[in-house]
Amino acid sequence: MTEQSEIPIEEFIVQAFQENFELLALESGHTISDEVKETALQQVKLYWRKLRHIAERVTDTEVHLTLPNQRTPAGREYAIEGVVDIVREDDRVTMYDIKTHDAEYVRANIELYKQQLNVYAYIWQELRRQPLDEMAVIGTDFPHNIKEALTVMDPVILEEALKSWDPVVPVEFDPAYMERTLYEFGRVVDRIEEGKFEPPPLETLQSTIKGVWMHERFGSRVCRQCDERFSCSSYRQYAMGSRQAAEGRMQYFMDDNPDQELWRTAELERFEE
Ligand code: SF4
Repeated sequence: MTEQSEIPIEEFIVQAFQENFELLALESGHTISDEVKETALQQVKLYWRKLRHIAERVTDTEVHLTLPNQRTPAGREYAIEGVVDIVREDDRVTMYDIKTHDAEYVRANIELYKQQLNVYAYIWQELRRQPLDEMAVIGTDFPHNIKEALTVMDPVILEEALKSWDPVVPVEFDPAYMERTLYEFGRVVDRIEEGKFEPPPLETLQSTIKGVWMHERFGSRVCRQCDERFSCSSYRQYAMGSRQAAEGRMQYFMDDNPDQELWRTAELERFEE
């Protein structure tokens, strides 16, 4: 493909992204702020620039995998579903699971992904009777140096940062993961069915997350994105945690903060349309 032919594809991406966004907003009744939307679009565009060699080779896209008739530890019936992409090339078959996480996080927490992908591999190989040679996770969130390059809007720095980005993380086959994963899934189903929704303890929010830039804590990295945080007892303790930080965090927690304002404005704009 030539440089010229890239322009229509990027235009197509913008158009398809917008159509998708409108459909999801209609279906869910929710929307997002312009800033978050722009970040998401940027992620899709960079994914294309970095991984077009894989995107162009995908032979089976959005393959739905289902493992029915499972039982939780308490005896409830449930099913597992997943969506993957498949590349069949030169007698080799590769399964890709696309995640919106960044690849460094995936590498540092590879056990979590091994569990999930080994269940998908089992469904693909044993239930669908299909061959499979390799599996990998694609982490579409870009690393910190790309975020910085986008902030300073320097195309040379961005190009350098893109070269060092490796978003494809291979995942090993290990059927031993199947049993443990199904047990964990079942435990979560039981907790949901029994209405056990208590948040994790404060220690979890104070712990640092592996593979995350600047050793961010769970309470900052995960909870700050969580819609439940304003009514979450663990987050309240976390926000009030250290004396020095308490004042600033309390301000964010109690007052109109930028996130709340953006959500409000985005929702209002949607209803005005
Ligand atoms: S704020 Fe959300 S993510 Fe964080 S502990 Fe509470 S419920 Fe969980």
